[in-house]
Amino acid sequence: MNCAVAILSVGDELVLGQIEDTNASWLSRALQSIGRTPGERRTVGDDRARLADALRTLASTHAAVIVTGGLGPTLDDLTREALLDVVSPGAVLVEDEAGVEHLRGWFEKRGRPMPASNLRQAMRPPNARLLANPHGTAPGIAARATFDAHVCEIFCLPGPPNEMKPMFDNLVAPVLRDDANVVATAALHSIGLGESTLAERLGELMERGREPSVGTTASDGIVSIRVRATGPRNAAQAALEATIAECLSRTGNIVYGRDGEPLAAVVGRMLAERNLTLSTAESCTGGMLGSFITDVAGSSAWYMGGAVTYANERKIADLGVPAATIETHGAVSHETAIAMARGALARFNTHLAIATTGVAGPGGGSEAKPVGTVYVAVAARDGDVFSRRFHFPGDRTTVRRRTAHLALACTRFALLGEGARALLWSEGEAVRVERA
Ligand code: ATP
Ligand code: MG
Repeated sequence: MNCAVAILSVGDELVLGQIEDTNASWLSRALQSIGRTPGERRTVGDDRARLADALRTLASTHAAVIVTGGLGPTLDDLTREALLDVVSPGAVLVEDEAGVEHLRGWFEKRGRPMPASNLRQAMRPPNARLLANPHGTAPGIAARATFDAHVCEIFCLPGPPNEMKPMFDNLVAPVLRDDANVVATAALHSIGLGESTLAERLGELMERGREPSVGTTASDGIVSIRVRATGPRNAAQAALEATIAECLSRTGNIVYGRDGEPLAAVVGRMLAERNLTLSTAESCTGGMLGSFITDVAGSSAWYMGGAVTYANERKIADLGVPAATIETHGAVSHETAIAMARGALARFNTHLAIATTGVAGPGGGSEAKPVGTVYVAVAARDGDVFSRRFHFPGDRTTVRRRTAHLALACTRFALLGEGARALLWSEGEAVRVERA
């Protein structure tokens, strides 16, 4: 019999494309991580008969089905009814005492009267059990469907991801886990080399059919190495770590983090370890760099702030860039980037400052400085200033995002003592100005 697990996503908004079905993708990955194979994914609108049909079909061909959505209190939430039609056709929903308790407690704790409609959420098919939801009102429901010799475990989970994920992890995964056959995955994130150069370094590790498998993906200058190992849990984990170590030995210090760790967080940790502070002076990124930095919880420990100086007058007035520098070399130049970074050092009284100035497009390019030309300078109070010229391919949004990422990379390499290192999309040698 098919031991795969089906995923059924419920909701008109999903069918109509108003929201993305992130639950299904998350569940597909979560299932593999506990050794189960995702068999099929379906999306059905808020319609009892269609829902019941889809659930019956999936349940009769899979060892388990995970349903998300449609457990709310309103009349368009029909997962309970559809489940009843599949596991106890002809029966009626019964009220679950513990479920009613949970709902009463939920509203009491928040000092609100419980709308009568919410009691719907304590209803379940007679042979089903509720799954506790500490993060919302809708309990999940677990039930078993039997078709001749085939048995299928059905788990209905709430739609909101912050309720669905912990319920899956705590109450579904322990039931479905198969430690004999897990898929262990990890990602290493790098910045500074192009995807093909990185692939050359990884060499035969990337050969198709290798186990564990190694692949790369690129996004806005960040190239990620994805490693995937299959097998019994401990063996898969050990093989995964061995391949990760091999990847690291071939890629060296361009890898900055693992498993989704943001580059700004890595830079922040390096600064915090050395008791250093940072500020920003942004032109073409218009605050995006500061935004990436302040995405990191706790960044106030090392990030003091920044200036968005879009107009030349602001570069002059707010950062003290000499007017003559802009007149002679242009706002998009090594000289202006360096003066901006030094201005931020002084104005924000930080140990390090990053400056960005460039032509994000679509207009404003020239032969000497085509669209995508950006200068990034990193200045250190007690050290040198390094400025790099980049040429980023892509549209306005892409150029700006790549600038923000590479600016963080420049900072990281400055902290590693490689302030002049050539990076992906950098042009010519970095300009170095010694401490004044
Ligand atoms: P509620 O009690 O919140 O109504 P519910 O179980 O009925 O819970 P839905 O009404 O289907 O869930 O969805 C509630 C919200 O959860 C949606 O508006 C959406 O924001 C989110 N959501 C639902 N399904 C998905 C999904 N497949 N992927 C991502 N988000 C989802
Ligand atoms: Mg709902």
